[in-house]
Amino acid sequence: MSEQTKQQNVAAQERLLEIQQGITSAARSVDRVPENITLIAVSKTYDAPAILPVIKAGQRHFGENRVQEAQSKWPQLKEQYTDIILHLIGPLQSNKTREAVALFDAIHTIDREKIARAIAKEMKAQNKTLDLFVQVNTGEEPQKAGIPPKDTSSFLKMCRQDLGLKIKGLMCIPPVTEEPAVHFAFLEKLARENDLHHLSMGMSADFETAIQLGATYVRVGSAIFGARG
Ligand SMILES: *Cc1c(COP(=O)(O)O)cnc(C)c1O
Repeated sequence: MSEQTKQQNVAAQERLLEIQQGITSAARSVDRVPENITLIAVSKTYDAPAILPVIKAGQRHFGENRVQEAQSKWPQLKEQYTDIILHLIGPLQSNKTREAVALFDAIHTIDREKIARAIAKEMKAQNKTLDLFVQVNTGEEPQKAGIPPKDTSSFLKMCRQDLGLKIKGLMCIPPVTEEPAVHFAFLEKLARENDLHHLSMGMSADFETAIQLGATYVRVGSAIFGARG
């Protein structure tokens, strides 16, 4: 291992520690228990040698946004570290559902009936239960994935009643040009109205705000691994 690689690994471990401390203080600032917040280290674009030091530092939840990219690095890492929990945080195509259900432990991006159906079918076929989140397009952006806020209740009902899916919570990615707090508060309200207790929200720039507004899963990439090239 080169001297430069070693230094990069130490830097990643130090940044992980900083994020953990940020989570703890954000939680305490609103009288929440830090243990109720799960840090997902988003390792997209980073290869196994860059991920390993973060695993060795004790991190167990990781996020990827592409099934194919995840397949290129995680099967071996999961074999080596059997307690790793892998989250799909990017859009899922229905022809990738089988692979996604086989590799991942959680999917945060259920955004249409076709995908919900495909996941239900595959979980049955593989006899595997994943943690599932419905993505809500809180900013109603035409180019962004997610269920429109006004359709969230009926979509959840369809998932529960027609497909027998147990949905764990809601996920959102706020519009880049808007104040994220408004979207986090809105997602929290939607979850509460639908009797859901988990919120996947907050990234490197705004995870503390997300925690103050109820996030139970934060998805942090560049603040741990460094800027993506
Ligand atoms: C890349 C990504 C993240 C992490 O973003 P950072 O700004 O690097 O922390 C979180 N959520 C989703 C859906 C992503 O695609």
